[in-house]
Amino acid sequence: MSPVARPVRCPVCAYSLGVPFFDGGMQALATLGWPASAAEARAMQRLPHDFLQCPACSHVWNSAFTYEAVPYRNNPNRMFNTGSTWKGHLAETRDLVSTVLPDRPTVIDIGCGEGHFLRGIAEARGREGRFIGFDPNASPETGQGVDFEARLFDPLIDMGAFAPDAVVIRHVLEHLTEPAAFLEQLAWRAQDIDKPCLLFAETPCIDRVFETGRLADFFFEHMSHFTTASFTALMKRAGQVRVLAHGYDREVVYALVELGVPEEVRARTRATEAFAVGAVASRASVRADLDALVASGAKVAIWGGTGKAAAFMHQFGADADRFPLVVDSDPEKAGSFVPGFGQEIRFRDALKDMTVDVVIIPTQWRAKDIIGEMEREGIRPGRVLIEHQGRLIDFHADAHPYRP
Ligand SMILES: [Zn+2]
Repeated sequence: MSPVARPVRCPVCAYSLGVPFFDGGMQALATLGWPASAAEARAMQRLPHDFLQCPACSHVWNSAFTYEAVPYRNNPNRMFNTGSTWKGHLAETRDLVSTVLPDRPTVIDIGCGEGHFLRGIAEARGREGRFIGFDPNASPETGQGVDFEARLFDPLIDMGAFAPDAVVIRHVLEHLTEPAAFLEQLAWRAQDIDKPCLLFAETPCIDRVFETGRLADFFFEHMSHFTTASFTALMKRAGQVRVLAHGYDREVVYALVELGVPEEVRARTRATEAFAVGAVASRASVRADLDALVASGAKVAIWGGTGKAAAFMHQFGADADRFPLVVDSDPEKAGSFVPGFGQEIRFRDALKDMTVDVVIIPTQWRAKDIIGEMEREGIRPGRVLIEHQGRLIDFHADAHPYRP
């Protein structure tokens, strides 16, 4: 491993090491400062430009970036949209998006600026549909089928509220500290919409930096600098990539993605939700079984006082008043106390001198060893209980997967 690699998380693929790529030093903002005078320009705050590259997905990012240092609210991001090559690229991507949309589509443009791209799609579709631009800094005039929301787009709320057929996010992802989190939330919420939802994403592309060695690409406002590989890795986190291509002489990379969450992730989510519901019920029913044991007047010992045995007592409320007798196979633990509840943990030999109706073994997978140990030591409780499927069950009489 490179001795200079640093422990840091890649914002695209979450790899845990980054390799120093370019130390740009302390510089002023490059595009969003808008100083009003030469003096103000010279007095601008200097910000750190510490670019790392991810050795796994090839992404480049400024590890010293802070979103708060970029004054979006005061200064709109002015994009130059009139160069002829650029215009050609805009027309090409506008057509790509507008031709894949269904009839009367709902289209959202996140970080739409003054809204030229969104208006272009609306016009291409004869203004039949709903076209909504989000940008906290620009407030272009709403009308002719195009609406603007002067705020940040929140995927967790707005995907459900607007149920879009397509989401456009152009030249925004490179400004975000957590682009993968943003896209995953978008994909997650797209699942809840009862129709396909497309994503069109575009960012600058730095592939040519590696051929040319040029450094002017690296300024503060762009935390992320996408290679084709890192952009592809990011897009795959949002769903099925249908189109991935370059524009503007390979200076930008874009993709059309069908937003979605893989079936295995959805299946796991359903299982998680079922487990969470079951856990609430299990905790209540095992507590009820313990209450019934106390009410029966049985003399109960709990075998094990730390780790998972302590967790059992915590989760099911086996407190020191009702369950004072706790033993352990490990003589080293004798004389210590159950965390949280305070029962003194005794060596298992304590059970030799008394009659015990019930031994509860919280560590089910050790139960057969503990039962063997009890037999060897002449400890003969009336019953041995373990927790299984939300109940306390009899180790010898009931069905469970821990039998020898
Ligand atoms: Zn990475």
